[in-house]
Amino acid sequence: MAYKVNYRDVEFNLFDYLKIQDLGQSEKYAGFGKEECSAILGEALKFAQKEIDPLFKKSDQVGCKHEGDKVTAPPGFKEAYHNFAANGFIGMDVPTTYGGMGLPVGLTMAATEFFVGSCIAFSMYSGLTRGSAHLIEAFGSEELAQRFVPNMYGGKWGGTMCLTEPQAGSAVGDLSTVAVKDGDQYKIKGTKIFISSGDHDLTENIIHLVLARVEGDPAGTKGISLFVVPKFRVNPDGSTGEWNDVKTVNIEHKMGIKGSSTCTLSFGDSGNCIGYMLGEQRRGMPMMFQMMNEARIACGLQGAAASSAAYESALDYAKVRTQGGKTLILDYPDVRRMLITMKAYTEGMRALLLYSANLDDKEVVEKDEATKEKYAGRLSLLTPVCKAYCTDMGFKVTELAMQVYGGYGYIAEYPVEQYMRDVKISSIYEGTNGIQALDLIGRKIGQKNGEYFRELYEEMNGFCTKQAAHPAFASEVGSIKKALDQVGQVTMKLAEWGMSGNVLSPQLHAMSYLYNLGDVFVSYLLTDQAVLALAKLEEIWKSQGADNEEKKSKICTENDEARFLEGKVKSARFFVANILPQATARTKAILADDQSPLKIRF
Ligand SMILES: Cc1cc2nc3c(=O)[nH]c(=O)nc-3n(C[C@H](O)[C@H](O)[C@H](O)COP(=O)(O)OP(=O)(O)OC[C@H]3O[C@@H](n4cnc5c(N)ncnc54)[C@H](O)[C@@H]3O)c2cc1C
Repeated sequence: MAYKVNYRDVEFNLFDYLKIQDLGQSEKYAGFGKEECSAILGEALKFAQKEIDPLFKKSDQVGCKHEGDKVTAPPGFKEAYHNFAANGFIGMDVPTTYGGMGLPVGLTMAATEFFVGSCIAFSMYSGLTRGSAHLIEAFGSEELAQRFVPNMYGGKWGGTMCLTEPQAGSAVGDLSTVAVKDGDQYKIKGTKIFISSGDHDLTENIIHLVLARVEGDPAGTKGISLFVVPKFRVNPDGSTGEWNDVKTVNIEHKMGIKGSSTCTLSFGDSGNCIGYMLGEQRRGMPMMFQMMNEARIACGLQGAAASSAAYESALDYAKVRTQGGKTLILDYPDVRRMLITMKAYTEGMRALLLYSANLDDKEVVEKDEATKEKYAGRLSLLTPVCKAYCTDMGFKVTELAMQVYGGYGYIAEYPVEQYMRDVKISSIYEGTNGIQALDLIGRKIGQKNGEYFRELYEEMNGFCTKQAAHPAFASEVGSIKKALDQVGQVTMKLAEWGMSGNVLSPQLHAMSYLYNLGDVFVSYLLTDQAVLALAKLEEIWKSQGADNEEKKSKICTENDEARFLEGKVKSARFFVANILPQATARTKAILADDQSPLKIRF
């Protein structure tokens, strides 16, 4: 079954709702009007369907292999990776200085949904390469950037991020990899585990970004520095030199994303591994956070993309599978409930992620420093929500897809069990979702004395005030306002607990709080989009003289655009009526502050 996506919904978000084509009037994005952006988006979908989708099953069935000192990716990956790079897709949204395309982040995010949705494992290689190259570009010297970055965006060399060690997972500060100064460079020694794209045969060289502690620097995260460590050394003229003493000890056998190599890497076993310090000494963590924040949103996108692919697949299946004589399973209320749940979550996650990507673009083109900072602050606040909400809900949607398929969903011939296995990791890596929730309550909500949070709250509150008497959505808006007030109430409670020295209750309820903020924000976005969709639908009805329910319904059956717009309205209504009330239930539970998890004697 080929990869499918609701392309119109992607376009609706970009061009009707966010109006990214207006960015084309700025100096930075001059020339990227609607036509240009649409053409790029269309090419991206074509590439995903033609070149990446055929790898989806193979990547799972064959997986990666580690034989002797070689790691190989599944058949077809190498050729597709080179074509992917040749199209400029690795560095779509990064500056053109070292070979990027300089496209809007929102457009890149939309295109990346197609790449990720058609095969998460394949998209890992380019994602990590883009992230690590961008880090060198942002913090490295001109010489370092020139030496490494163009070949990475160009697809000749790959990239990784090396944080995790056997004893240092969530607690990165516990790492024990050391760096010893050796002239202008450093000798690196240590072992990193679970390194995605750590070794493979897609590229001639792999450039690792390694967190390590310079000998003598303090323990914990404050003593960590960041190093560029190539698998093969790179000569000053840019040619590939000798092996840099980076050994692949092992690759992991995993539940999903089997086509993405996950490696244990040993650096400097023979005392001969050279690294170049990136940026300042002991500033490794703040720099790595740039890549991690981008990667966290990319993880959220894995959730949303898998969710979308699984939904489309389940919908197609429900339209052909019959039971009980000749009844299509699509006609059973319970199956319809599952399908609309999947649709609403998928559209909600897409809206959340594209809204967030658009904040990045707005920040870039904004001239006023205070407004620029506002956009950056809001993105930083929403990052843990994008990551944890979309990966958890994405997994939930893939599970519903399996349920829609019935027994066939559990069988490997159909794609949904793979979507479910592939996407599960996204809630674990890049900081587990539990850690995201702690980041939200511990750092993000209180950032700049809570100003970013207040502004986000005000945006939602402003929507509720403006649309309180909307003829079609007043009831939904009322529900959102109630749930938003509850978010405010719980935020105050968390602060109150914190100030009275009760640090455990906020941690206990952090995940529920994150889900609540996600549910409320998604309700707002879907309803705001539904207001726009209904206005467009009414124009269609009017232009076609539909003056009664029967005529309107006929148009929605026969006209694709009308059916799409009506579907947007239904997604929003469903989400607010059926999913948002869970936030009210969670609010009640948070405020009751049941201490059993802390008191139980396991
Ligand atoms: C397929 C795969 C690919 C990966 N790719 C990379 C990569 O490219 N680069 C890289 O560096 N790493 C990578 N990782 C590692 C990944 O980021 C870690 O597994 C993850 O950060 C969690 O660390 P851990 O496994 O040690 O779990 P632990 O830190 O032991 O966590 C176990 C549980 O305890 C919870 N927990 C831990 N600390 C706290 C706390 N303070 N408060 C509340 N709960 C807590 C966690 O939420 C989790 O539920 C990858 C892992 C996998 C499986």
